[in-house]
Amino acid sequence: MSSIVIKGASILGGEPRDILIRDGVVADIGPELTGDETVEARGLIALPGLVDLHTHLREPGREDAETVATGTRAAALGGYTAVHAMANTEPVADTAGVVEQVWRLGQEAGYCDVQPVGAVTVGLGGERLAELGAMADSAAQVRVFSDDGKCVSDAVLMRRALEYVKAFDGVVAQHAQEPRLTSGAQMNEGAVSGRLGLTGWPAVAEEAVIARDCLLAAHVGSRLHVCHVSTAGSVEILRWAKSKGWDVTAEVTPHHLLLTDELVEDSPVGAYNPIYKVNPPLRTRADVEALREALADGTIDCVATDHAPHPVEDKETEWAAAAMGMIGLETALSVVQEAMVETGLLDWAGVAERMSLAPARIGRLRGHGRSIEVGAPANVTLYDASVRGEVDPSGYASKSRNTPYEGRILPGRVVATFLRGRPTVLNGKLA
Ligand SMILES: [Zn+2]
Repeated sequence: MSSIVIKGASILGGEPRDILIRDGVVADIGPELTGDETVEARGLIALPGLVDLHTHLREPGREDAETVATGTRAAALGGYTAVHAMANTEPVADTAGVVEQVWRLGQEAGYCDVQPVGAVTVGLGGERLAELGAMADSAAQVRVFSDDGKCVSDAVLMRRALEYVKAFDGVVAQHAQEPRLTSGAQMNEGAVSGRLGLTGWPAVAEEAVIARDCLLAAHVGSRLHVCHVSTAGSVEILRWAKSKGWDVTAEVTPHHLLLTDELVEDSPVGAYNPIYKVNPPLRTRADVEALREALADGTIDCVATDHAPHPVEDKETEWAAAAMGMIGLETALSVVQEAMVETGLLDWAGVAERMSLAPARIGRLRGHGRSIEVGAPANVTLYDASVRGEVDPSGYASKSRNTPYEGRILPGRVVATFLRGRPTVLNGKLA
């Protein structure tokens, strides 16, 4: 069997080591190892392959925005070895048949593992529970259930879903958005929305649902995961729920760690640019500070991209009509470096925990989220944290271009990604 030796990589920012990969696993770590093939990694940081809990791959149904093939290529280029594919496809991933279809497409694409998320309710309709058990028992072995894009706003349905998933150690991932409070909402409710005359999206619409769901999860003794936390108040509620010992986890997106609602009014690309329109909306500087602190202290468990590709015609239109969402797979690690590492809030071990270990643990995803150690599956990302460059989406593997970072200078570059020992990315390009 052929082997690969990664020479001189700095595992989690530590001393340079060689990593020997054989038969898809880490066979040895030490100085001066040899293998059939050599990958030079001096000066590069080795991280466990990144895991995303929240990716929109758009297939089936919106292949004009993204496909499993293009989305997984984008993921590999971003350093990911596994992504959870959200259920709001067309048809919705609410049956064993659809989740198995997505799972198979991921296996064929081969650039990273695709773990389907199952819908909580039939057709994301918020009225009847989907066949959660059948999806859990399917070949895709679904463990994360979410109506993401929509909130499971009915408290009785949410309670039933939380009770149901206990049977197979599943988790309900809630998109916390009280629908009545956000009817017609266009951006964060605050000073900027007031000045621009756009309907506001109050923080309380997120916080009220999170508080209710933490109480429900505690009441039935189940696991709750909160998607894309975006406000300082949500952080306070999560801190309280965790202090009670409740089984509640949460994610934050890279964009909520870096961008604020001020960009809607004043940005390098002018005011009302829909590139900044996203759900949940960009919030205030104070919210960004609270989210960074919460990610650093563990109140927020992980970073999830909420990679949300949209074709140009859905995004480059007037603000009110534009689709909500941003792509994020190919910039996530750079944004986290900028927001969390260069600010001194996280070291590379902390990044690995929040972008690989924790998301795999929350999703109960086997074979991912393991530290780089002998015997572990060789899912490895090599990252050059020393470079800075202008974001240019023209070469992205994603089918969509709706990145809010175009033209911005960001640090870091993914140099290589290995999926079970097989390079999916080498020298920054698809292998
Ligand atoms: Zn969402």
